[in-house]
Amino acid sequence: MDTPRPPAVAIALPDWVDEVVDWERAYATDEDKMRLAIALSRENVARGAGGPFGAAVFEEATGRVVAVGVNSVVRLNNCTLHAEMMAFQLAQARVGAFSLAGEGMPVHTLATSCDPCAMCLGATLWSGVRRVLCGATRDDAMLLRFDEGPVFASSWAYLKRKGLEIRHGLLRDEAVAVFDLYRALGGAIYNG
Ligand SMILES: [Zn+2]
Repeated sequence: MDTPRPPAVAIALPDWVDEVVDWERAYATDEDKMRLAIALSRENVARGAGGPFGAAVFEEATGRVVAVGVNSVVRLNNCTLHAEMMAFQLAQARVGAFSLAGEGMPVHTLATSCDPCAMCLGATLWSGVRRVLCGATRDDAMLLRFDEGPVFASSWAYLKRKGLEIRHGLLRDEAVAVFDLYRALGGAIYNG
């Protein structure tokens, strides 16, 4: 608390992300999209950059990546910077709109290497994505002692009633393997 007024908050991806993401490629299938989210989570761990979570927002029809996120809670001293939150914020900055479901916009899909926590599930609803692909499960994350917060079956049902299409457990084994790597490397456990 050196200054009387808080600073502006900058949310930037690590430079190495460009080595993982092909910004020109069409990530056509759900598996292609999930593999990118998992690759981001793995690289975040391998580089000691943060927690074992990655996410990406795509245009569904073209498979183009709009934005990605990696867990940056510790790196940027920001409890809100889960991978999904980062991907949403950067995607909305890129398209210049606070919703990815605005007038005339294409359908957007979120791929996340783990079931979203309470915060990210709320943001998923407000983000405007219409499809959600999840890798590791809430139970997998909790086994690693990450707290996912108050997410209930009724929470998912609410999103589905709002028209979101949701797939769980996509390439789950590959996503969980990153949790195992994180544990083996002695990574920090914070809230989630
Ligand atoms: Zn989260």
